[in-house]
Amino acid sequence: MNALDKLKKRGISLRNLNIVMLGLAILISAILIWAMNRTDSLYRRTHEFTQNLLQWRQDSYDLQVGSDYLTEQVRYFAVTGDRTFLDNYFEEALVTQRREKALDKLKQNHDNSEAVAELISAMNESVQLMNLEYYSMVLTIEGYGYDINEFPEELQSVELTDKDEALSDPEKKSLAIKYLFNDEYLTFKRRISNDMNDCLDRLENEVAASQSIVADQLSKQVDLEHFLTFVLIGIMLGIVLATSVLVFRPLRNCVDLIRKDYEIPLKGAYEVRFLAKNYNLMYYTTKENENKLNFDANHDKMTGLYNRRGYDFFLHNVDMETSTLMIIDLDKFKEVNDTYGHDVGDKVITKAAKIIQNSFRTQDYVCRIGGDEFAVIMIRSDSSMKDLITRKVNLINEKIGTAEEEEGIPSISCSVGVAFGSVGLSVSDLFKRADSALYNTKKSGRKGVSFYSKKNEA
Ligand code: GH3
Ligand code: MG
Repeated sequence: MNALDKLKKRGISLRNLNIVMLGLAILISAILIWAMNRTDSLYRRTHEFTQNLLQWRQDSYDLQVGSDYLTEQVRYFAVTGDRTFLDNYFEEALVTQRREKALDKLKQNHDNSEAVAELISAMNESVQLMNLEYYSMVLTIEGYGYDINEFPEELQSVELTDKDEALSDPEKKSLAIKYLFNDEYLTFKRRISNDMNDCLDRLENEVAASQSIVADQLSKQVDLEHFLTFVLIGIMLGIVLATSVLVFRPLRNCVDLIRKDYEIPLKGAYEVRFLAKNYNLMYYTTKENENKLNFDANHDKMTGLYNRRGYDFFLHNVDMETSTLMIIDLDKFKEVNDTYGHDVGDKVITKAAKIIQNSFRTQDYVCRIGGDEFAVIMIRSDSSMKDLITRKVNLINEKIGTAEEEEGIPSISCSVGVAFGSVGLSVSDLFKRADSALYNTKKSGRKGVSFYSKKNEA
């Protein structure tokens, strides 16, 4: 027998099934929790990307605005000669420093990015532009006749070319304005602006690429979660199905069969089979004991024939209206006891019982209803059987009339009274009739048979 057949025979153990299901459920739940955490962190990353992009936009906008503000202030100064604009310029360039701060933030957020390289390039160009702006400022300062020493150090260190130094004040003013509005200046501004746009484009591309990777991972994560959820649902349904097939259904079946007093088939889980097996064992033991008790209660120990109790039962449960009742009594049995002793008397009774029993059909009931008295209920029989009955009685008398010297059993005879059942005849009347016929036999010399008839009624 292979392992599978053995398992089928023993049934799946609920304990093992439980351990497997529980282990599986814990494993899947752990993976599911891990997957949910990962999904959460992936979601946070996409959120972070979006936030960063917004921040970069803001930073680059600040950078652009800072740069434009400087251009604006220096141009106002060159056109109007108003020193306030110059102060504003240096306030922005040296104190507020929107551009530097924005650049720092961008660098922090995106350290190794090519986008930052574009930014640095923009910043360098912006510094070059500042040098041009400083040069224009010095031209303006000198054009308006201001004292250069009253201005920041950055301007004091700027030296004009000899050619520009030789220009008149109005010429210096107009040259300053020219430098701030000419193609070279505008090209610088455009380059800075282009670098900024390139930077933003790159950042956006980088974010889009990262987001697409994360989105891909997120989609796989969601697929995994779906799969695990289905597996969990499968396990749950499996547990319900398994308990139904292995426990509930067999138990329900057991309850029905126990109610009907049947044995239980060995079906379902190992534990249920174990219970069923033990129940069946107890069931059979109880039934056997019950049968034995019933047998003892209805049988005569000495002869094995039905006893008085059995006889009463048949009288009231067999259709006696279509049956014949015979009462058989041993003749002068007392003398046997007196002559040979009680033990020999028992042997005589046992021998007679055996002979009487063998003289009738198996469906007839042969009973010992008194010490040396027997009753035979011949079912489905009537007066047409008188001859047959007479022959049977003669044969019985012949057999019990033969002494068995070796066994020490003396010969004996019996007297028989017979009454036939008829419609409406009560059981007690039937007995009375058979008993009366028996009396007739005894009275007319024993060893023979009498059939009840009204005329010889006692
Ligand atoms: P009759 O022909 O008129 O029937 O005479 P009888 O001597 O047979 O008288 P009766 O049938 O009345 O007596 C039956 C006797 O059977 C009485 C009793 O001592 C005896 N007896 C009853 N039961 C047993 C038993 O189990 N064993 C033995 N050995 N004798 C029994
Ligand atoms: Mg007798």
